[in-house]
Amino acid sequence: MLIIGPPGSGKGTQAELISQRLGVVAVSTGDIFRANVKCGTPLGLEARKYIDAGDFVPDSVTNNMVQDRLSGSDVESGFLLDGYPRTTAQINHLDRILASKGQELDVVLELTADREELVARLLGRARASGRSDDTEDVIRHRLDLYHEQTEAVVSEYAERGILTSVDGLGTIDTVTDRLFQAISTRDAISYRHLPSYEAAAVYAAFSER
Ligand code: ADP
Repeated sequence: MLIIGPPGSGKGTQAELISQRLGVVAVSTGDIFRANVKCGTPLGLEARKYIDAGDFVPDSVTNNMVQDRLSGSDVESGFLLDGYPRTTAQINHLDRILASKGQELDVVLELTADREELVARLLGRARASGRSDDTEDVIRHRLDLYHEQTEAVVSEYAERGILTSVDGLGTIDTVTDRLFQAISTRDAISYRHLPSYEAAAVYAAFSER
């Protein structure tokens, strides 16, 4: 699965919640970059200048990192990508990674929200997040990039018939409910691809609520 949405739409929060409930590993490119920045690895040093400016880390760097992460044994039976792909070149790379693993995307969850709401949310969390890219001009730049490059990614998955869009406005719980509803009504993540224990977990998690 993958979850996609503009900065501030709550995709990281929701990815964590879905991951916990379904027992599917969440892979967040933003988190991986930030961890590398924190540890001062060569990847972190390279990525830092882009992240601070609100720019995308170059596709070649990001694609290699994701390819490496998706070769891990913990993602063999599935995963939830958060923050990738964001460009058309990244879609193509992900297609190749998945093809080589004999996997395919079951569902793409899109979180939507109004631009000014997103700016307000991000500014509101800026102090708590301590993120270097949560200043107003960088936030606006990140939103512009989403519009310019990542909306085309959303359209591509819509054309492939695997996109499901969910309103990201409301409390965290409300949005989680909507996402599980979307997952379970989508012939839920094409159950035929899932090991039965995961399919059961989707039903169980959804019916608990
Ligand atoms: P947000 O969606 O709020 O901007 P993320 O944590 O997903 O937050 O990403 C933070 C930053 O990490 C991005 O602004 C970008 O610099 C970098 N990044 C994350 N994912 C990608 C990606 N797929 N391609 C290029 N850069 C990325």
